[in-house]
Amino acid sequence: ETEDGKEKLSKMIELMDGFKASKVLFTASKLHVFDVLRSSKTGELQAEDVAQEIKASMKGTERLLEACVSLGLLQRTGKEYANTAMSRHFLLSDGPLSLQGYIQHCNELVWPLFTHLETAVREGTNQHEKAFGKSSDNLFQDAYYSRHEVKLRFMKAMHSIAKVSGRDVATAFDLSKYKTACDLGGCTGAMAYEFAKAHPGLSVTMFDLPEVIEMSGHFRPHDADDRVSFVAGDFFKDELPKADVYILARILHDWSDEKVHILLSKIAKACNPGCCVLVSEIFLDEDRKGPSRGLLQALSMTEGRQRSASEYSLLLKSHGFTTAQVKHTHNLLDAILCVAE
Ligand code: SAM
Repeated sequence: ETEDGKEKLSKMIELMDGFKASKVLFTASKLHVFDVLRSSKTGELQAEDVAQEIKASMKGTERLLEACVSLGLLQRTGKEYANTAMSRHFLLSDGPLSLQGYIQHCNELVWPLFTHLETAVREGTNQHEKAFGKSSDNLFQDAYYSRHEVKLRFMKAMHSIAKVSGRDVATAFDLSKYKTACDLGGCTGAMAYEFAKAHPGLSVTMFDLPEVIEMSGHFRPHDADDRVSFVAGDFFKDELPKADVYILARILHDWSDEKVHILLSKIAKACNPGCCVLVSEIFLDEDRKGPSRGLLQALSMTEGRQRSASEYSLLLKSHGFTTAQVKHTHNLLDAILCVAE
């Protein structure tokens, strides 16, 4: 009874303090604490050296570093602070699996939105205007792409998630019989390059709005595969590139069922029998009791919604696609493969 009570209390404390822990991660990341520690000769620094490097107060830095230790983001031996294996893996800005881009998006965009969660819930509306003083009828063109630095930040966020989850999504299904793929709304191309890497016989066209395509050079990998090409367009209005496999990674959750139907009917028209659609999203459990990552994301209240694998399956079925396989990757994104009849 008391043990159970203590467990409940500690769960409560974790929930009450969760926002502080997130903000510690965002702040340490923004101030480049992890990069600074990595760049030091021994990989270790004392608080006052870190304070000097990040140009912050000694008092504040010490408290930030101690909080990071308590959260498993840093380790300390005597007076020396160092990165943990987890922070080396995910928090160095140039690491192959860096989540820095996504973390800064959370800090600068999602955090202000969630500050207005109460209003969002009361009104059932997105709080972009309240948080940023600007309305956003079109999430991408108005909210993300109207200012260069905001666009770049958004693209870096997408890039980091795609880098972390891309391999698992790209290898989720056997695509060896297909020759061409089109990654619709492929953003920086990170996912497209993962598909090319995973499937030696596949050429991948990455399709996105012109504002995004013009930045693709910024995200081009050093060993860029020439089987990946870039096409600019609007997937609601323009003709879609021809392909055997259409990839929709983190696209459908942004749109209402009505818009999803517009997009899927365009894809269905472009598909011959045997062609397929690969949808990659966080799949909600069928009883909608989790995962909380998806249910929390839904509270940003875009016009879209989070769906389960069977909901995606039904949407695709209404456009003549039969679900061939569902894959829970245990990474950030799951995947479903549906074949045109
Ligand atoms: N697929 C990428 C991934 O998983 O990393 C990016 C997903 S991001 C949430 C949505 C993408 O859809 C953005 O890159 C955005 O520019 C693109 N997009 C939004 N509206 C579009 C449209 N009308 N036509 C083409 N691309 C669009």
